[in-house]
Amino acid sequence: MSRRRGIPFVVAAPSGTGKTTVCRRLVAEDDQLEFSVSHTTRPARNGETDGVDYYFVSRQDFEALRAEGAFLESAEYNGNLYGTSWDTLHKLREHGHDVLLEIEVQGARQVRAGEPDARFIFLLPPSMKELEARLHGRGTDSAETVRKRLRWAEGVELPAIDLFDYAVTNDNLKTCIEDVRAILAGERAGETGALRRRFDPSAARDRLVGS
Ligand code: ADP
Ligand code: 5GP
Repeated sequence: MSRRRGIPFVVAAPSGTGKTTVCRRLVAEDDQLEFSVSHTTRPARNGETDGVDYYFVSRQDFEALRAEGAFLESAEYNGNLYGTSWDTLHKLREHGHDVLLEIEVQGARQVRAGEPDARFIFLLPPSMKELEARLHGRGTDSAETVRKRLRWAEGVELPAIDLFDYAVTNDNLKTCIEDVRAILAGERAGETGALRRRFDPSAARDRLVGS
């Protein structure tokens, strides 16, 4: 019997929403789900390991890979290049794993165009005020960087929500993780109609804009 091919799940969100927190928990608690390790030209942060968090490469090597067509998608974010390689995706899917692509929205748009099997989940903060509070609370960004991230969220990230299949609000972390799990389960079972109505992206965006 041939093995099932895994499903690629793209997860994107405005920076500070809690995407990393949610994605780590999802992968840790779901044996069928594997994290897609991206390539990046960003220097490794303290505690990050090459081949685990990212494949850390020079800009020259990244450009060479991109010219060879090695990437399903790639994008520049904050002065660094990021990309998902076909090789990484194929290997995981062929082993029957579903694959979590935690990427920003320019890349998500390319996956929409280049990988018809992918499903798209957008995470939203409960309000823009709470997004700002989380960015400050995380303590990794200066006040100026927080302002830049909020402008990017409003101008680039939120308007991209329409290309996603689902939008989940990360208000209570536990509920958000349960909601995303319900979406993964529904997609695996091929039962998606009610979920797509419940997590409709345009309704979620309207709620956020009105908040
Ligand atoms: P992202 O990867 O989207 O930039 P992070 O996962 O780094 O976001 O989360 C941003 C900050 O918000 C972190 O300090 C994290 O602990 C916090 N956070 C995440 N989810 C929640 C939540 N549901 N409620 C309150 N704080 C949260
Ligand atoms: P960070 O540098 O904080 O790890 O990531 C910065 C942003 O790049 C995050 O929004 C993250 O999701 C995104 N990112 C990580 N890997 C990829 C990738 O392979 N492709 C794209 N397009 N974005 C990525």
